[in-house]
Order: sequence, then C-alpha cells, then structure tokens
Amino acid sequence: MTSPNLPEKFSSDGRIRSINPRSWELVGSVEATPVDSLPQRITQARTAQQIWSERSPKERAAALAPALERVVARKDELAELLGREHGKSTTEAMFSEVLGAAEVLRVHLKAAPRWLQSEKIKLDPLSYPGKRARVEYVPRGVIAAVMPWNYPLALPMRTIVPALIAGNALLFKPSEHSVLVGAAIGELFEGLLPEGLLQVLQGGPALGAALSSSPNLDGIVFTGSVSTGKKVAQSAAAHLVPVSLELGGKDAAIVCSDANLDRSAQGIAWGAFHNSGQNCAGIERVYVEDSVYDRFVDKLVSETEKLRTGGNPECAEVGPLCTKAQFSIVQQQLQEAIAAGGRVLCGGRATGEGWVIEPTVLVDVPEDCAIWHEETFGPLLPVMRIHSVYEGVDRCNATPFGLSVSVWGEEVGRAEAVARRCEVGMTLVNNHSFNGSLPNAPWVGAKQSGSGVTGSSLAMKFLTRPQLVLVDRNKLPEVWWFPLNRHALAMGRTLLSSHIARGWSKLTGMLGLLGLLKKRWD
Ligand code: NAD
Repeated sequence: MTSPNLPEKFSSDGRIRSINPRSWELVGSVEATPVDSLPQRITQARTAQQIWSERSPKERAAALAPALERVVARKDELAELLGREHGKSTTEAMFSEVLGAAEVLRVHLKAAPRWLQSEKIKLDPLSYPGKRARVEYVPRGVIAAVMPWNYPLALPMRTIVPALIAGNALLFKPSEHSVLVGAAIGELFEGLLPEGLLQVLQGGPALGAALSSSPNLDGIVFTGSVSTGKKVAQSAAAHLVPVSLELGGKDAAIVCSDANLDRSAQGIAWGAFHNSGQNCAGIERVYVEDSVYDRFVDKLVSETEKLRTGGNPECAEVGPLCTKAQFSIVQQQLQEAIAAGGRVLCGGRATGEGWVIEPTVLVDVPEDCAIWHEETFGPLLPVMRIHSVYEGVDRCNATPFGLSVSVWGEEVGRAEAVARRCEVGMTLVNNHSFNGSLPNAPWVGAKQSGSGVTGSSLAMKFLTRPQLVLVDRNKLPEVWWFPLNRHALAMGRTLLSSHIARGWSKLTGMLGLLGLLKKRWD
C-alpha cells in the first residue's frame, strides 16, 4: 500500500504541518521555533522563574487551578483534536488523554504542595546544641521537557504540572507529530503564569538536539525512544545537566495456569491494542503456561477479532499508526515474523485507510525475530507457549527493556512472586498499563527503559533539588573549634562512647561531658 504524496512536515516558510494519520489530510500547522532563539528563550524563562519561585507551592498550585476548569470545559474539542492529529478514537482520547490530563491537575493541585514540604532533620542536642536543620525542596530552575507523540496531551502534563508547582520554568517541546495538541497545552495555561515561564517550542529533532545541548538548563525531562534518549543523555552530560529519561519498552504478559482466561484475554487484548499498540508500556509479547495455552489463544483471537479499525472514529478500537515511520517499522516486523514461519491467527493486513494495521495475533514466531526483542509500538501480539511461569520470567528478562510486566493468575500471592522476579520498574497482577493514569503512582522503568520517575511524590526528587537549611542558636563556641587541647580530645572520646552507652553509664558520660565543657574553654 502506498500513501499519497503527503506535504513535507517542515515547510519552507518555517511552519510545521500536522497530518491526519487516518485521512492523510492536512489538519493545520504551527510556526516552528527558530533554533537560534533558544538562548534568549532560556534567559526569559529564567527571569520568569525567579518571580514564580517567590510564591509558595500552595500559591503556585492555586494559580494553576483554572487550567483544570479549562480541560473540563474543552474536553470534547481536545478529544476531537487528538483524534484528528494522532488518529486515536475520541472515546479513547477522552479516557486516556483528557481524563488523564484532568486527573494530573486534580491530584497535583492538592497533593503536590504537601509533597514539597520541607523535612526536619533530627539532631542530637548533646552533640549539636542549639541547632535546627531541615531539607527544603527548592526548584531546579529552568527545565526542558522533550516529549513524544503517543500520548501528546496527558503525558506532557505529567511533567509540566508538577514542575510548575515545584517552582520551575518549563521549555516544553512537543513532538513534531503532535504540534497542535502541544499548542493546545500552552493555551490551557495562558494568562495564569508569569510571561515566559511555560514556553511551547515547536520543532523536530534538530530543535530537540539544540535544546538538550543548551548549557544553561537546570534539568531535562526526556520521554521518547531509547536511541534518542542516549543522544540526549550524552549532550546533557557535556554541561552536567541532570537528565530524567523515560524510554521505550517491550512489555510482557505472563499467563499462569490458574488465570481467569476470559478476563485475561480481554485485558491482554486491551493492553496490547489500545492506542493501536503505541504505548511504551503496551503488551508486546505474551507467555502462556502450557496447560491453558490453547484455550487462552482461542479466547485472545476471539477478543481481537471483535476490534474495529474503521467506521465511526468516535469509537473504533484500533486506529492508525500515527506516523509513516512507525507504520513501516510495524510492517517490517510483521513481514519478518511471517517469513520466518510465524502464523497470523487474526489481523495481519494494512487496511488502506490511512496508516491502519489490523490488530494481529501471531504464534510460532521464531525467537530470533525482531518482534520478540525490539520495540514494536504497533498492534502486533506474538504469543508463546511456556512450560513454567519461571520460563516466562526468564524470557521477560531477556531484552534490554524493563518498563512493566503483568502476571495473570487467580492466586495473586503467587502471581506477585512471579512478577517480583521480573527486571522491570512496574509490576501488575491481573491488569496492565492503566497505572499511567494514576498521578500519585510512580511511572518508572528499569534497564534501558529509563531511569526517570513521573507521577507521585518521587517525581519531585528530580523536579527539585534538596537544599539544607541549618540554623544555630548556640551562644557558646563549638567544642571542635580552635584552639584544640587535651580536654577537646577527652570530649570527643566521651561523645563517641555515648553513642553506645546505655542507662547509668550514659548518664555518667553526660555528667562527665558537662565537667569537660567547662575545662575545654578555661
Ligand atoms: P523519539 O525519541 O523519536 O522523539 C521523542 C522526542 O525527542 C520528540 O519530541 C523528538 O522531536 C525529539 N528528538 C528527536 N531527536 C532528538 C535528538 N537528537 N535530541 C533531542 N530530541 C530529539 O520518540 P517518539 O517516536 O516521539 O516516541 C516514541 C517512543 O517514546 C517509544 O520508544 C516509546 O516507548 C517512548 N515512550 C516512552 C514513555 C515512557 O514513559 N517510558 C512514554 C511514552 C513514549
């Protein structure tokens, strides 16, 4: 199948075009951000950040509150825009993106100020008289957020909202494939923030590369492919700019012999095919215990055959791949698997309507095929028979990826124990991937799936830096100050012994210290 001659993404008049992946029609365009404007934009962001950081986290959260009302008021418009620019159905967009964005705001407006509260440090009054210490979580400063196209609304919001409440300025670069949704995110915050605090930078790889090699950033949150993540980490390292990486995945589902097969087949079909498989934590391989393999595969095929790729774009379950490049990768993996002897049990065709590929279940695919170990990011699902769940664990761990795993079984304690052996950031029992919509749960990878955390208070560890605040009200000189003498040495010894002393000997040690204190300064 060939796509018609599509307009170039980057036009000669400095605009970026958005193309509907289902109809190949032009949806709109935005002005590209010139690469040479970056230094001035970073300076502007820094000025705005200094004003913003004067406010408390609570005040900052209150300033963002209207954005939640705007998401709710514009829900249909946003879902429809996601449908046109990304290709997902408006129903799916409503659940995973619009509701997701609203949830991010709702939870963070309330919880983030609490997550940013300072922490008291306990100090031994005997060793450190008159002193109080705490850790404050201060904003990093100017953070760049470079984002992908697969969840172009909800995913950037997971960084933008906490980063702003934490007191940072944000230079947000949406993907060149989701420029209109990127612009819509900017509109949600219009008029709520100091000028230049949140800037939407529109561009492709060249702008992303220039941004991530900028010397004046205080942090980069990158979400995207492993190969780009490595480049971003390398260029940021040149200026020692800290980077948080959320990268690709090759998630496995392991079906145990005691699984509820009906629910597992439904859940795994959803986990593999929602967003047309373009989910970093989509299920891309299934390992099924021998005794239930045939029954499970029948049920999975029957669930998959029910999924519609066309018809009403409001609720077609599987839409087009968002980009031509992604369509080609998925086609290549499919053709390689078939050529190597894999059998397609359902799906397997490009429908010709945009970049749509039918949801596809495959079996008997040799293990050395790319579909088992490279990210697919499309609606293909290979299934393999295993002889024990631990074989499933070994196979799960046999790729460089480590985002999430799901284990499906009725004896949940056993399923949990199986999941725990998987080298991944997120383990689920009897469900998959919906945890991306939980703003107070950490989204985190292991191995090459990245080192960053979004969601929950843990994400604040990257969006802020810890600053120690120590205040001393002691009126006397410290015992370790100059001049040093034999009484100082004796005090040091006594203090050290008091660390393990108990009861009576502790008390006599303290009295001894008081005696030494007087001699120390005589
Ligand atoms: P990508 O790596 O091609 O692009 C991501 C972003 O980086 C885009 O904004 C792009 O313009 C920019 N970019 C491209 N080249 C760059 C460079 N050299 N320097 C700096 N920036 C550059 O990824 P994609 O195709 O947009 O997204 C799909 C990938 O994202 C998949 O691998 C998917 O698994 C991953 N992903 C991961 C998560 C997660 O949370 N772990 C979430 C969503 C997507």
